Amino acid sequence: MGGLSAAVLLGRDGYDVTLFERQDRIGKKLLLTGNGRCNLSNEDISPAHYRSSDSEKLESILSGMSDSERDSFYNSLGLAVCSVKGGIYPISRQASSVLDAFRFTLTELGVNIMIGYKACVLKEGGRIGFENVKEPQDKPYDAVVIACGGKAGVYGEDKDNGFALLKRMGHSITPTYPALTFMKCDDDLKSVAGVRCDAALTLKTPDGTYKEKGELQLTKEAVSGIPVFQLSRYLTDPAASELKADFLCFLDDAGSEYFKRIQTYPDRTLEEFSAGWLNKKLALYLIKKAGLKPSDKVKDSDTQRLYRVMTSCTFRITGRGNYREAQLMAGGVPLSEVTDDLESLYMKNVYLCGELLDVAGECGGYNLHFALCCAHIIRKAIKAKGEG
Ligand SMILES: Cc1cc2nc3c(=O)[nH]c(=O)nc-3n(C[C@H](O)[C@H](O)[C@H](O)COP(=O)(O)OP(=O)(O)OC[C@H]3O[C@@H](n4cnc5c(N)ncnc54)[C@H](O)[C@@H]3O)c2cc1C
Repeated sequence: MGGLSAAVLLGRDGYDVTLFERQDRIGKKLLLTGNGRCNLSNEDISPAHYRSSDSEKLESILSGMSDSERDSFYNSLGLAVCSVKGGIYPISRQASSVLDAFRFTLTELGVNIMIGYKACVLKEGGRIGFENVKEPQDKPYDAVVIACGGKAGVYGEDKDNGFALLKRMGHSITPTYPALTFMKCDDDLKSVAGVRCDAALTLKTPDGTYKEKGELQLTKEAVSGIPVFQLSRYLTDPAASELKADFLCFLDDAGSEYFKRIQTYPDRTLEEFSAGWLNKKLALYLIKKAGLKPSDKVKDSDTQRLYRVMTSCTFRITGRGNYREAQLMAGGVPLSEVTDDLESLYMKNVYLCGELLDVAGECGGYNLHFALCCAHIIRKAIKAKGEG
């Protein structure tokens, strides 16, 4: 997204643009986005939807492209977009139509597209070195935009993309890990596999405590769903982290409503007591987790203990999805190593764009938006330098 957008914007400014892509075609990752529907952006863009160590710089980056600039950019590709529950999508709801719109525009602008070129070295003067390619190793470029993305999705765990190149330039890389993915846990979840239910989640990590609410999805050995994906951006150390779920979050005052229900139904079994509130499989799992029996009568049971499990069910985290199973790579080049124009502090006229930066957006179009935003800022900076 970042590279394609920068190529379009700079091509329109009249620059002679070359796009180098290491894979066998451009924009492969775009095809995977939004379950093939490509959630391009969101109506509610703000730093609150991103994880970053430098919120001030993030805010300045996000304000570098207005909503109308975003919309007119997509319109200028010939791509009509629409809003669905706050998310911005192509009106066709097809990621392939987004890629087509980019491809047609790049061809119309005469952008040179070099397929199978993996950049591995960047020298002063904009000279790029490619893996296993002799030409055009020594051609100097007035400006270089690095938009190598992250490791999530189409890449294997061990692919470095542009990270080796960035390190050779002097950049540091904040430790990277798969994000927007599920969390594995050591509980036996076989009996609740397939259950979907609302929950308020609290993730405790060595760095802090984070909260999300939404539809939780349980599988045989993992917790998943959008709230887990969002929290996974903060999961720097799975083994030292703990996830708690409140399954009674739909109640305004769970404490008093729970104990009122106990008084109303003292003769029901715990299974009957939970019916109507919780998914049956989940209720049985929680009753067992509390050390109780479904057939126990409410009036004879430790209902305090059941309440604690229903409102604060602990999952011990043992891991998470790998890069192939994730939608994002958290970590990357710290924002402190680029200027407000996203120019590298280590090499003049070299700009860093998109997911390779240490910014992790939520699900909901935030990451494609961020990459496009970077491209707009870089285009403005290169244009201003050219005019200066
Ligand atoms: C399954 C999945 C679903 C997603 N869904 C959404 C969504 O709906 N909405 C959203 O906002 N975000 C989504 N994302 C995240 C989003 O796709 C990325 O954050 C975004 O594409 C990042 O843009 P980018 O330009 O930084 O990098 P990318 O889009 O990853 O592009 C980087 C490009 O650089 C190429 N490259 C890498 N290294 C080199 C090199 N050394 N030399 C030459 N070329 C190189 C890569 O092959 C790739 O084509 C999803 C991600 C995945 C994996």
